[in-house]
Amino acid sequence: MRKSVWRKIGLAALVLVLFVSGACAAGTNNDWGGAKAKYVFMFIGDGMGLQQIIAADVYRSSIEAAGPVPALKKMEISSFPVQGMVTTYSSNSFITDSAPAATTLASGYKTDNGVIGMDPSKTKKLTTVAQMARDKGMKVGVLTSVSLNHATPASFYASQPSRNDYYEIGEQLVGSDFDYFAGGGIHQHTGKDKDRKDLYEVAKEKGYQVLRTREEILAAKPGQKLIAVNPVLDGSNAMPYDMDRTEKELSLAEFTRKGIELLDNPNGFFMMVEGGKIDWACHANDAATVICDIFAFNDAVKEAIAFAEKHPDETLIVVVGDHETGGMSIGFAGTQYETFFEKIAHQKESYESFDKKIAEFRKGEEKTFEKMMPMIADSFGLRTATADERKALEEKAKAGDDAARIALSMTLSDLEVEELRAAFENSMLEKKERPKDEATFLLYGGYDPLSVKITHILNRKAGIGWTSYAHTGAPVALFATGLGSELYAGYYDNTDVAWKTMSILGVR
Ligand SMILES: [Zn+2]
Repeated sequence: MRKSVWRKIGLAALVLVLFVSGACAAGTNNDWGGAKAKYVFMFIGDGMGLQQIIAADVYRSSIEAAGPVPALKKMEISSFPVQGMVTTYSSNSFITDSAPAATTLASGYKTDNGVIGMDPSKTKKLTTVAQMARDKGMKVGVLTSVSLNHATPASFYASQPSRNDYYEIGEQLVGSDFDYFAGGGIHQHTGKDKDRKDLYEVAKEKGYQVLRTREEILAAKPGQKLIAVNPVLDGSNAMPYDMDRTEKELSLAEFTRKGIELLDNPNGFFMMVEGGKIDWACHANDAATVICDIFAFNDAVKEAIAFAEKHPDETLIVVVGDHETGGMSIGFAGTQYETFFEKIAHQKESYESFDKKIAEFRKGEEKTFEKMMPMIADSFGLRTATADERKALEEKAKAGDDAARIALSMTLSDLEVEELRAAFENSMLEKKERPKDEATFLLYGGYDPLSVKITHILNRKAGIGWTSYAHTGAPVALFATGLGSELYAGYYDNTDVAWKTMSILGVR
């Protein structure tokens, strides 16, 4: 009895050691015996679960549908030859945040929520696949649509106890000796209290060129390390949503194409590209904005595919989510077995862009729902109709009038108008005056009550559901193509993703 108890304890300890050491592969093979990859792309869709990917595919299929029968048109990423399923839990929660999720994808070790590139005790620094590639003489690029020192990119070059230590992470960025940083800017580049040395200046001292216009960035030539910052940034130094992108900006695909041009060299390269705002739009429960950012992410992947076609035997492309965000579903209680994704095509701007219009409206004199409604109609296609108007639309639609059919499909029900009115009243209050009870949180999640209600209603009409304003514990999908990609088939942990990648790169 006693002996078997000790045997059990010994076994448990062994499992723990293997688990903590990252060697417990749970049946998946992490060792690549073939030729080593010279060019490795890791694309991380932040918050991009399988639901988000299929939502983008269903959307495109709905828009381009030739008839009523569903014919799924897959994006490039969902057409890759190898698929994996990946568990995402961190060392202290079944629901991870982006810091441990990316730390694990980069290093092969789990850590606690909020921690960047360190073990859960916050004493041991972890080494990342990007640093290993750099030390092997390869060039390294880190690209993201959020700030360059945000959790996901940070996890490839920094070690900090907290993801919120932006300045310290930024110091590690400029000290990383990586060759190309692109997308957002350095958040809090002069420190939280704006009293530290400007990190862009430190970067220049360390040999980086810092470019901020579309023309300069597109004209950049290989030879000097580069920090390429999108000409337009939001308050957190992230790029705007792709849906709101203007002509003077660069797309994630353009940053990727430039990166390939700058990093291509005889020793090869490792490039991490993050679609960071897929996550943010999921937090806000705005499906149209999510889907647009996924298409932008997929366009960036297409740049890697074009490169791989020229170097088919030396290139590996891995596309993976770090976790799922929002508990998104294809299907909603009210729409049951049907989807109407074409309805979200009416949305012309992101919730974030519309928030600014609401803020302006709030400052105005005549703050009525009736005055707001045309703005909602203009940006989201949702409209109100009297009983008589509705009846007239129904008759026209029945007679085959397509415009009437579409108008009817975008008309708010009585319940939806009631919900929208309540959200409007709430939104017109100053933020500090708004109710903070549990029911209000469940309705609006801390976002502007009106814009989150608009996207909720529009998404519900399309047949899309949301269950959270945070992340979920759902496993994510991984798609791989190229040299060594077969190693990624199966169902395994996010630690394994790093071990596989390091093995194929020949850095472990
Ligand atoms: Zn998130």
